[in-house]
Amino acid sequence: MRLSHEPKYWLYRNRFVLELDEDGEPVESEPDEFVDCLVEVMAVEKGKPWPSDSFSWEQERIETLNKLLTSRGIPLQWDRSELRDMIWNARRGILPTRHCVLAGHRSEELVLRVKHAVLREENALDKLRREVEAFENFERIRATPREPIPEHVRMFVWQRDRGRCAKCGCQERLEFDHIIPLAKGGSNTERNVQLLCESCNRAKGAIIS
Ligand SMILES: [Zn+2]
Repeated sequence: MRLSHEPKYWLYRNRFVLELDEDGEPVESEPDEFVDCLVEVMAVEKGKPWPSDSFSWEQERIETLNKLLTSRGIPLQWDRSELRDMIWNARRGILPTRHCVLAGHRSEELVLRVKHAVLREENALDKLRREVEAFENFERIRATPREPIPEHVRMFVWQRDRGRCAKCGCQERLEFDHIIPLAKGGSNTERNVQLLCESCNRAKGAIIS
């Protein structure tokens, strides 16, 4: 992966992004100095017939190109197969797109595209995180043993709360309620159990879930 000397990669919100074109494909472009060298090396080929010994021909061109790049202080960041492709394409008259062309024409669009790609990825990650969290919560609730409140705790709570709803004080449809739900780590002891009437209990359930 080429990162240094590589305008194709952008850093946004701590993420490296490869520049994409309008079809979402990575933008293929090369530094201007490199394209200049390629043009220079291939200039001598103009008007010549198609090379007969293609292997030694491409080796020579690669050597010449590498020498020229080195003499101009351009870091050799291309591997042989990339150079070979570009040399053969140049022989057919197809040159790589220059960075300056892309940067000049579509700089604002490119920046937006990069930001969009990063934000979209972050969004997708957030969604994934929430879904995993929901699954894990569900598992935890299912795994929580539904032990009944012991008889002596019920007795104690009933007497402590005087047979009334701890919220509204009414005496009808009373239920034993876990102040902190068992699924969230609450215990079956009197400190965590209270008397609630049915409607206060439902109202509390709606807030918690
Ligand atoms: Zn109540």
